[in-house]
Amino acid sequence: MRQLVYISGRGHSGSTLLDLMLGGHPRLIGVGEVYSLFDPVRNSLNRPDKVRCSCGNPMDQCEFWSPTADVLRQAYMGRESKQELYRLFLSSFYDHFGSDAIPVDISKTDEPLDILKDLDDVKIKVVFLVRDVRSWTVSMRDVARRSKDFDVSDLVRKYGWRAWRPFIGRTSSKFFWHWYILNRRTQRLLQETGLPSIQVGYEELCLYPDLIMKMISGFLEVDYTEAMLTLTDTQSHVIHGNRMRSQQEKRRRVAYDDRWFYKLEWMLPALVFPHIMRYNSVEVYRNIRDRIWNT
Ligand SMILES: [Zn+2]
Repeated sequence: MRQLVYISGRGHSGSTLLDLMLGGHPRLIGVGEVYSLFDPVRNSLNRPDKVRCSCGNPMDQCEFWSPTADVLRQAYMGRESKQELYRLFLSSFYDHFGSDAIPVDISKTDEPLDILKDLDDVKIKVVFLVRDVRSWTVSMRDVARRSKDFDVSDLVRKYGWRAWRPFIGRTSSKFFWHWYILNRRTQRLLQETGLPSIQVGYEELCLYPDLIMKMISGFLEVDYTEAMLTLTDTQSHVIHGNRMRSQQEKRRRVAYDDRWFYKLEWMLPALVFPHIMRYNSVEVYRNIRDRIWNT
C-alpha cells in the first residue's frame, strides 16, 4: 500500500535533521512543508519562481514540483478543499516517483493531521518530534533575536505602544507554556485521529542516531541503512526548508544544537513550572530512558 510519512512537532525541533536522515533511504523522499503550499499568505503556488527547491532549482523548474504546482494551482484557484489538494499532491508524487516511494512531509503543524486521517488509500505514519523544552526555548529566543523581535528598543520602534505583546511573547516562560500546551495538544490529536505514530526526542535522535533511526525504520517498515547517518541528500525535493537544509553537504552532520548548555535563559521557568519539567523529562527521553545507562 502507498505510504506517507508526516513529521509532526513544533518548529525548530529538529525536523530538518530528521528529514535529511530519512532521505538517506532510497524509498524515502523529502518534499518539504507540503501543507504550507495551501497557505494563502505565503501564496507560493502563484509565485513558483520565488520558491527554491532543495534540488537546486526554483519550484517552476524542478522536475517534480513544476508539474505538481501547476496541478495544485488550478485546483487551488478552483477552491478545492485542502483534502482534495493533498490528494492531488499525492497522486502527482506517486506518478513521478512510483508507488513504492514514500514522501516525507515536514509540515509539522496539527491542522493537516485531520485531513490526512481521512485519506483512505494511503497509509499515513506520523513521527512526532519533541525537543527538550530548555533547548527549544533558548533556540526560539535566538530566532526572535535574529529577526530583531527581541530588544525593547527594536520592539518599540516596530510595534509602538503595542510592543508589550511581542515583549511578553519572547519571554522564556511564554515559550515554556507554548511548548507544553502545544505538544500536549498534538499528543491528544494523534490519539483521537488514531493515526499510527512514534514519538522521538530531538536529544535522543542526536545522541543515539543509530538506535533511534533503527526504531523509526522499524516503525516505517523500511530497512535501516547506514546511509541514514551520513546526511547525504540523494533525491529530495524539499520546498520551504530551513537554514540547515541550505548548508553545504560536506558541512552537514548529526550535530546537537547545544546552546542551552551555556545559556541560562531556561532556569527561571524550569524552577517556577516544575510540572513542565516533569513532562519534559518523561516525554523527550522515553526511548532511551533506562535503556542505555541502567543496564
Ligand atoms: Zn526539486
